[in-house]
Amino acid sequence: MKCLLLLVALFPVAVFATVLPENEPVPGGVLVMQLPASTTRPVAHFDGRRIMVIKHDAHWYVVAGIPLATQPGQKLLRVRLIGKPAQPLEFTITPKQYPEQRLVIKNPQLVNPPASALPRIEREQAHLRHILDTWVPNSAPALSFIWPADGPQTSGFGLRRFYNGEEGSRHMGIDIGAPEGTAVRAPADGVVADAGNYYFCGRTLTIDLGQGLYSVYCHLSKIRVKRGARVKQGQIVGNIGATGRTTGPNLHWTVSLNGTPVDPYAFIPASAIPSAKR
Ligand SMILES: [Zn+2]
Repeated sequence: MKCLLLLVALFPVAVFATVLPENEPVPGGVLVMQLPASTTRPVAHFDGRRIMVIKHDAHWYVVAGIPLATQPGQKLLRVRLIGKPAQPLEFTITPKQYPEQRLVIKNPQLVNPPASALPRIEREQAHLRHILDTWVPNSAPALSFIWPADGPQTSGFGLRRFYNGEEGSRHMGIDIGAPEGTAVRAPADGVVADAGNYYFCGRTLTIDLGQGLYSVYCHLSKIRVKRGARVKQGQIVGNIGATGRTTGPNLHWTVSLNGTPVDPYAFIPASAIPSAKR
């Protein structure tokens, strides 16, 4: 009987609790930290950017993306409760080493685009930056993702890439290899924030998951949802392709939190990750 009472008492919590990502405060990782008790939703900032605050087991937590370029060490969050001055909260970013990858690219335009393409590239980068920096309120964003396509990971997050011996930009997402046309699914419930054709990324679909969390899919052959549409976790939203600057069909997946790309694995439960990865 005691057990039954305990189960009844726990049941509402088990049903309604938000899943918390794993706390990994490293460059490219996600900080998850409990905030002081408050009857109202706290507002928190890191590096001048508003960051996600969620309720979990009756406590408030920040969920903040740490930029890959951040130097490890002591950092401050600024947290404001209604009617009180903002207070600093200290946390520590620990170092993380990412692997290197050396690639030989035969077509130099894949590495260095022609000057005629630069205005388009700048316009597209500004457009995507504006979307990913947009704060959309959502009291309970879905923080537990599914693996979005039937295929293995072929490149990990954060890789330092060298093209023909020259260091390029870091790999800001993960790549999933699968044949052209393979279905691509929404990682969680959200709203289509953008769908377009980009120079580097090809056909690109961005889904707003709430409170500054976005999923970006690149190189799609087909986008199957329109801007503004609500999507459910697991819904087919596109198909794998090789559009944009890529050497073959694959899904490049960026997850952006408070305007910074983070390792998507922070939001994927171990049980959802296909074997033979990482
Ligand atoms: Zn990629």
